[in-house]
Amino acid sequence: MAQDRRQFLARLAAYCAAAGLPGYAHADDDDRPRTRPGSTTPTLPATGLSGRVVVVGGGMAGAAAAKFLRLWGGAGVQVTLVERESAYTSNILSNLVLTGTVQMASLAFGHARLASAYGVTLVRGEALAADPVSRRLTVATASGPRVLDYDRLVLAPGIAFAWPDGLQDPAARSLFPHAWQAGPQTTQLRDQIRAMPAGGTFVMTVPPAPYRCPPGPYERACVVADWLKRNRPGSKVIVLDANPAITAERESFTRAFEVTHAGVIEYIPDAPVTFVDTASRTVHTPLGAFRGDVVNVIPVNVGPVLLADLGVANAARGFAGVDVLDYESTAVAGIHVIGDAAATTQPKAGHIGNQEGKVCADAILRLLGGGAPDPAPVTNSSCYSPITTSTASFLTAVFAYDPASRTMKAVPGASGEALAPSKDHYEDMFVWFRTLMSDTFA
Ligand SMILES: Cc1cc2nc3c(=O)[nH]c(=O)nc-3n(C[C@H](O)[C@H](O)[C@H](O)COP(=O)(O)OP(=O)(O)OC[C@H]3O[C@@H](n4cnc5c(N)ncnc54)[C@H](O)[C@@H]3O)c2cc1C
Repeated sequence: MAQDRRQFLARLAAYCAAAGLPGYAHADDDDRPRTRPGSTTPTLPATGLSGRVVVVGGGMAGAAAAKFLRLWGGAGVQVTLVERESAYTSNILSNLVLTGTVQMASLAFGHARLASAYGVTLVRGEALAADPVSRRLTVATASGPRVLDYDRLVLAPGIAFAWPDGLQDPAARSLFPHAWQAGPQTTQLRDQIRAMPAGGTFVMTVPPAPYRCPPGPYERACVVADWLKRNRPGSKVIVLDANPAITAERESFTRAFEVTHAGVIEYIPDAPVTFVDTASRTVHTPLGAFRGDVVNVIPVNVGPVLLADLGVANAARGFAGVDVLDYESTAVAGIHVIGDAAATTQPKAGHIGNQEGKVCADAILRLLGGGAPDPAPVTNSSCYSPITTSTASFLTAVFAYDPASRTMKAVPGASGEALAPSKDHYEDMFVWFRTLMSDTFA
């Protein structure tokens, strides 16, 4: 117990130092982090823990896991982050790029600070395969394959997509950006919207749950409708939802569709995509065919192929089943899966990815120390949704571990949505975003 407490104090002090918070002083905390003279970089404490952890994917979940493994684990825990891109592009706020409110460049987050401030080793490359017996991961890098030894492997590769008929061919779909992975597709879709004529039609689809960012498609419908009202009068937004009803913030979005954007947004539930006719820009559903000047199909979200290749894709649609006490795969020992790639009862969201990264990091450190994961983890999530150019609503939830079902359950009374969209919520959205991204990448 005494050792646990000292480790906890060391971790807390390290966090305070890194976050620029007032230091936490205690007579016992000899191994608290110190700052080198003239430097703001914390010297990580020796916590007595040691081990090698490899994290795949430097997005919301993976970057958080890598950072907090080092911050809480200290100097003896070697952490390697494998990421195929040179920087991470935030999906959060990317719907505002479509309307020109936010610039793409402001959504780029590098990993350099994870290396300089916390000593995470960065490897630029694509994780391809792992041998779970010898615990070795193979990564394709620009200079050839590399093999990384690990005691624990954390996978945070996000999502992949299952294409509907008509968009199977990469050439066909290159003209129909989903923009559900922020990047070049986001600006491509923005340019298509800008090129729409007055009185035009924007047809978009909502994939069947579970998908990344439950309120995201409805938020997109709102901000596009708001932009079209002001810039392309007489235009319409048709939302074809594969689900039987709005899947998140139902009251807020129903009001937004029926009142705020009445006459502009037409919402059609129970309308899964059966075929996309790219030549005529028409989306076919069991409820009819819908032609658009711009067609934005958000495809069915599935687990990345890496999960299947590593033998952990044992949940529906190729996502990974995990034990939410430590996010270890229920199929392969020593491999943990966090973020959108994991099948849990929590939403596939960036804020939750950050939380899962921390719970997983804490559990791995406890395991490396010969202990057991925290038996009662709690996570929380917030999500702001712009409704117009100056107002936003929000959704918040707290999840606690339920030993009976061995799942994370929403805590009654601790979850809810905004009473009404407001300017204050819109401004809070940017504060929340900066705080979350700083907690994850800085
Ligand atoms: C339009 C939109 C708006 C959103 N708004 C919100 C919001 O307001 N709030 C919120 O909480 N969430 C929001 N989200 C959801 C959020 O972005 C995701 O849930 C979150 O990014 C998931 O984090 P992740 O780490 O699991 O995956 P990602 O963030 O996608 O990161 C995965 C990383 O893994 C890397 N990678 C993948 N495979 C490999 C490999 N084999 N080798 C090496 N690297 C690999 C990728 O390059 C990527 O950097 C939104 C999503 C969208 C699309």
